[in-house]
Amino acid sequence: MSLEAAMERIDILVVGGGAAGMLAAVAAREAARKRQIPDKDCSIVILERNAAPGAKIRISGGGRCNVTHSGTPGELLAKGFLRREEERFLRHALYAFTGSDLVRMLALQGVQCEGRPDGKVFPAAGLAAPDIVRAFDRLMREARISLEASCTVSSVERVGDAFLVITGERRINASSLILATGGVSYPSTGSRGDGLLFARRFGHNIVKPSPALAPIITLVKPPEELAGVSLRAVSFIGSAAGKQASRRGDVLFTHRGLSGPAVLSLSRDIAELFRSAGSCDLFVDLFPGQRTEELQEELLRDAGKNGSRMVRKFLQSCPIAPPDGLSGEAPNGTIPSGLVPFIMRIAGLSDNLQWSGLTREKRVALLATLKRFPAGSVKTVPLDQGEISAGGISLREVNPKTMESRLVPGLYFAGEILDYAGEIGGFNLQAAFSTGWLAGESVKIVGRGQDQ
Ligand SMILES: Cc1cc2nc3c(=O)[nH]c(=O)nc-3n(C[C@H](O)[C@H](O)[C@H](O)COP(=O)(O)OP(=O)(O)OC[C@H]3O[C@@H](n4cnc5c(N)ncnc54)[C@H](O)[C@@H]3O)c2cc1C
Repeated sequence: MSLEAAMERIDILVVGGGAAGMLAAVAAREAARKRQIPDKDCSIVILERNAAPGAKIRISGGGRCNVTHSGTPGELLAKGFLRREEERFLRHALYAFTGSDLVRMLALQGVQCEGRPDGKVFPAAGLAAPDIVRAFDRLMREARISLEASCTVSSVERVGDAFLVITGERRINASSLILATGGVSYPSTGSRGDGLLFARRFGHNIVKPSPALAPIITLVKPPEELAGVSLRAVSFIGSAAGKQASRRGDVLFTHRGLSGPAVLSLSRDIAELFRSAGSCDLFVDLFPGQRTEELQEELLRDAGKNGSRMVRKFLQSCPIAPPDGLSGEAPNGTIPSGLVPFIMRIAGLSDNLQWSGLTREKRVALLATLKRFPAGSVKTVPLDQGEISAGGISLREVNPKTMESRLVPGLYFAGEILDYAGEIGGFNLQAAFSTGWLAGESVKIVGRGQDQ
């Protein structure tokens, strides 16, 4: 048999059966059918390393799967993608396939979704992440997509106008290629950066993968008594070499460092600060809604009324001010009683100090601690433990209106392989679905009836 004869031919080949790859394949079929290309004349195949598709969807949202976020595409872009160039890049995709499109698509497959007051959208009660994957299984069957599982692509190269894709002993000639191999976090789910290597060989620049939505491990472990203590509606701050980044939200002390929404959200900036400065100190502003002078007035007011009150009692009953504009999303907390002894110690105040004994110097120390509670120094922000990874295919080299490579015609990218990173709240899955849809919708479809 000649080499040519041994080569399989596929019209549209998708590498990676995650959220982006599955939607890309489904969208490509829809586009082909719209153009009256019979299914038999346009083969669409997904090659997936794992034994089943959607490994990350299954573990998303702790198994509940926060599929998207309520709101218009503009609202999702503003809330979910804080870096301007990433937001701009994703604009076309999020309008091409919106959160409502996703919810409608899932509902047609019998999976109803419902939004929570904080905007996160989950499958309705009684349903969970596996139901989302099953819905995509059905969609792929309806679209006559062939999903080949336990099939790892080892190399991809350009041959003439097509692509030569190698998996095991098989050599596949693909007219169009969509790389949807994901990021590099949670490598046990199959996403190990293979697509980035393939793209590099095509001449693409890769922005080095870095952690995002990841916990932070501190040089010194938090004291045992603090592990598990959660601070509500505070401002989490990273500071290194004169630069500072902060995020409002909840912070959780863990056995190894810090986690919780504000920490996960800021972890990408913290990792960057840490990388450039070699160290990064972490702080918590317990009263982000009040300037130091306002807080001082509150302390003085209480001290004036209750001179014999113990400072620690005041702290225990003192609500943490809700962040501006976030009331409803982040309910008022109080300073957890577990934190109070640490505040007293760091401010240099004795346990039984009363308001009447608080000198000006001590008051300044207390205010400084409340506005900048030291929460440790970064040891590492683990790339593999992030819900996502930042970095990936440089956005400048991808057409945002089609997801096609600007360097290699017929090559498309979708999902987390691209250099964007969304916030927590369903934004990352929505971006994977939307970029997948746009890539599939835009892919060049020749169809065998047409080109022969
Ligand atoms: C613990 C956790 C919780 C999360 N929770 C949420 C959430 O609730 N909401 C949300 O919006 N986002 C969440 N995310 C993020 C979200 O799951 C991802 O951003 C999204 O799934 C990425 O989709 P993708 O298709 O781009 O990549 P992936 O889902 O990573 O899919 C890539 C696929 O490509 C396959 N592959 C890789 N290389 C090859 C190869 N060489 N050959 C064949 N196949 C290959 C992989 O096996 C994998 O199946 C979470 C992530 C994690 C890890």
